[in-house]
Amino acid sequence: MRVRFWGTRGSIATPGSGTNRFGGNTSCVEAVTDAGVRFVFDCGTGARLLGADLAAHAPKPLNLNILLSHTHWDHIQGFPFFAPVFMPGSRVAVYAPQGSGRSLPLVLAGQMETTYFPVELDQLSADITYHELREGTHTIAGVEVTAQYLNHPAMTLGYRLEADGVAVVYMCDHEPFSTTLWRTDSEPGRVGSILHAGDRRHAEFMAGADFVIHDAQYTPEEYPLKKNWGHSTYEYVVELATAAGVKSVAMMHHDPTHDDEFIDRIQDLARSLAKARGTSMQVACAYEGWEVSLARGESGGARVAAHGSVHLDGGNRILIVDDDPDLRALARVALVKAGFTVAEASGGEEALEIAGEDPPAMIVLDVLMPGLDGIEVLRRLRELPATRNVPVLMLTALDSEESIRIGFDLGCADYVTKPFSMPQLTARVRACLARADEAG
Ligand SMILES: [Zn+2]
Ligand SMILES: [Zn+2]
Repeated sequence: MRVRFWGTRGSIATPGSGTNRFGGNTSCVEAVTDAGVRFVFDCGTGARLLGADLAAHAPKPLNLNILLSHTHWDHIQGFPFFAPVFMPGSRVAVYAPQGSGRSLPLVLAGQMETTYFPVELDQLSADITYHELREGTHTIAGVEVTAQYLNHPAMTLGYRLEADGVAVVYMCDHEPFSTTLWRTDSEPGRVGSILHAGDRRHAEFMAGADFVIHDAQYTPEEYPLKKNWGHSTYEYVVELATAAGVKSVAMMHHDPTHDDEFIDRIQDLARSLAKARGTSMQVACAYEGWEVSLARGESGGARVAAHGSVHLDGGNRILIVDDDPDLRALARVALVKAGFTVAEASGGEEALEIAGEDPPAMIVLDVLMPGLDGIEVLRRLRELPATRNVPVLMLTALDSEESIRIGFDLGCADYVTKPFSMPQLTARVRACLARADEAG
């Protein structure tokens, strides 16, 4: 398999003398199998260069599979400038996560409305198909593609391609589920010692991969001010990839404020950290134009069961349990807007009563409450047959290692630290529901 970087910048295109080496175009990475099956991870502004190259040099008719991580601007802005979509006879299949609230063609048409762009989506000449994906293993153009939800304030998928005996993983945009990475009651540095189930799943997803392309927008010093923006630090990437036995890591989604010199320093620091961890893993910051050839390895493989058909956008009843009426009101507005129906409880006793009478599809449960706290409520929910399997997402004000550890040991589905944004909450609720659907 061959991988080429056409756009490595995060958030917004950043041309200029300070970004010449690592590049100013937003996310776009091409992967081509030995048999010539072509995938495009994201369609940021880098897609314009890729499109021009394909129009000039690739055999026709073109046949492409675009895997969008999500539909934030920096991942789709190159689509209206991507030459193959204007070429009659070209076949372009676009894949993106389900559950953005609108259908994929509608989302892509939005940025091409006449107010913003002279050509509308339905005027494009190529044969374009749209596919909304859920977490799970899919076969696309004969290639095994596994998708898994990332942690970002939008429904976002990471992708793992398995072909030619190698595994390539693409994970932009993503931020740590927990600021505390390791459990204190086990040895750090191993996947099994990762505290938050989300981070553990993330490491398992990249396990044994030959090449992992990962969001590394921030330094650990910058991260506290950018928490909840949905991006990682190089430190998180190196720690997880080392634990997961990854062979080579390419860090991208570079911050627009980071010039080439700054990214050089990030690369040095990341390499020093990898060295300190005693791994032979290769670490680099990705640059525009970088091409990598991957030969057959032992990729390990990560399969995630494909999901059923539960509706992520509507019909499900969510119970919000929090003693803070303001938080309940904000969460209710966000979840109702996303199509859910919502029940509320201001304390543990009331929550157990409501859940016992009519079990909801999911419970969002605050940890710190007067009277019965969230951990005790979770314990009792797990004992009742009617609520034993209802997924529970815990909300915590303190990122306490102990509380997170106990919550996961009791079988909660997810853990979110306050303060969080409502798009984040909605994305995490949808991911929990999709996983519960798979387990059921
Ligand atoms: Zn982005
Ligand atoms: Zn994003």
